Amino acid sequence: MRYRIQRVFGRLSAFSRALLLLLAAAGLLLTGGRVTRALPAFAPQSQPLIALTFDDGPRRSTTTQLLDGLAQRGVPATFFLIGELVPDNEDIVARMEAEGHQVGIHTWDHVSLTGLNARDFYSQVERTGTLLYQILGHGGFALRPPYGMVDNGVKKRAGAPIILWSVDPTDWDDKNTQRIVEQVVSQAQDGDIILLHDIYPTSVEAALQIVDALHAKGFLFVTVEELARQRQVPLEPGEVYCDFRP
Ligand SMILES: [Zn+2]
Repeated sequence: MRYRIQRVFGRLSAFSRALLLLLAAAGLLLTGGRVTRALPAFAPQSQPLIALTFDDGPRRSTTTQLLDGLAQRGVPATFFLIGELVPDNEDIVARMEAEGHQVGIHTWDHVSLTGLNARDFYSQVERTGTLLYQILGHGGFALRPPYGMVDNGVKKRAGAPIILWSVDPTDWDDKNTQRIVEQVVSQAQDGDIILLHDIYPTSVEAALQIVDALHAKGFLFVTVEELARQRQVPLEPGEVYCDFRP
């Protein structure tokens, strides 16, 4: 077989050979970018782990303030972004990844993905993913469907793990920082995924207080991707994950 390939390859013109090699290299680059994105070396953690996740951004004023606070505390988080809010905020998206946060997709303009036909689904998810690809240079973004609404169509088309949550203080409701902090800190367990929204100043303040309170309780904050890795749970496309409790 190898001999035959060599013979066929040998018969091609120099131009065709160059073209084939170029295509093969491009293929490697493309797939390499998707599947081999470097994660930090695996170091198993013994302390309780928790993931902060933020939906509905980016919003320059609040998201920047949050990134500053997380950077001061050395805490990574996961951001599920709205595609139509990304233009003019590309620097914020790049900053997220540069500072160790995970970036994911929360649709183009915040519609429920259930019941959508393929075209509408892809114009919500793929369109956002393409924009993020242009900024970050890789694909493979986890999906958080708005309202946590998932059906078989969403699972079938997601092409990425579907990340929901296990702690939801409904921070958008009364926007009461103290209540949000108390609710999350009293509920938080090892392996939880916390849902917040980085578009409200009250939620940003709450998030930073939550970090300080859970640090005092011995929690280590990690991205969703890292949480799954620590728990040795493979993230499969179209599968739904709400927590990674032991
Ligand atoms: Zn949302």
